[in-house]
Amino acid sequence: MSRSVLVTGGNRGIGLAIARSFAEAGDKVAITYRSGEPPAGFLAVKCDITDSEQVEQAYKEIEEKHGPVEVLVANAGVTRDQLLMRMSEEDFTSVLETNLTGTFRVVKRANRAMLRARKGRIVLISSVVGLMGGAGQANYAASKAGLVGFARSLARELGSRNITVNVVAPGFVDTDMTRVLTDEQRENIVKQVPLARYAQPEEVASSVRFLASDEAAYITGAVIPVDGGLGMGH
Ligand code: NDP
Repeated sequence: MSRSVLVTGGNRGIGLAIARSFAEAGDKVAITYRSGEPPAGFLAVKCDITDSEQVEQAYKEIEEKHGPVEVLVANAGVTRDQLLMRMSEEDFTSVLETNLTGTFRVVKRANRAMLRARKGRIVLISSVVGLMGGAGQANYAASKAGLVGFARSLARELGSRNITVNVVAPGFVDTDMTRVLTDEQRENIVKQVPLARYAQPEEVASSVRFLASDEAAYITGAVIPVDGGLGMGH
């Protein structure tokens, strides 16, 4: 069964690992990218999720080429870390605008066809930081915690239509996002992780694919930690 899958921010990092994992399983995978050359092997649509018009255009292209999106992985996200004292309103709103409102835009647009089909799988990529907080990450943590309330509300709204909505909350994963950290910051993080290492993007991808599989048909409104034990039940 080859499904129409969309992974936002599927051009690099965790999103690319997720996109590859679905493609390897035989699904038709579309990814969004904003600039540069997207990776080969996917239907790459140019789309900034802060722009509703670009989201609409991206969906039209995917629907034309792959059919309506059956599995949506809302992965695109940004950080703009700063202590509260120095955090500008723009630092705060821009992170919310991408991570939370951007996710709202892509989920709302996917939902239309899923409701019609009376089935669908939605997976949102949150973060352990959304559950535990992180000094210097009030904007990011607020956006990622917001995704949990968003997903659980939708799980209630859409469950009777056979649409599941779940959250994956990764810990620290080796990508561009964490490569900006200093060696000292990385060492401090690893000390707090029971599994004593960063995750590889593929280790997040496997949980996402499980949540989108038939085996996970009775799981909705869940938050699955993929954090090496860092969050420990939060
Ligand atoms: P990267 O910084 O490597 O990649 C971020 C992705 O998001 C890129 O594809 C980027 O596209 C895309 N993106 C950002 N803003 C927008 C936007 N406005 N519109 C469309 N796409 C956008 O991050 P990761 O792969 O590490 O992170 C992926 C997700 O996982 C994020 O939501 C992140 O918060 C979350 N996460 C990451 C963790 C980590 O340790 N790395 C831990 C927990 C959660 P472009 O290439 O165009 O910039």
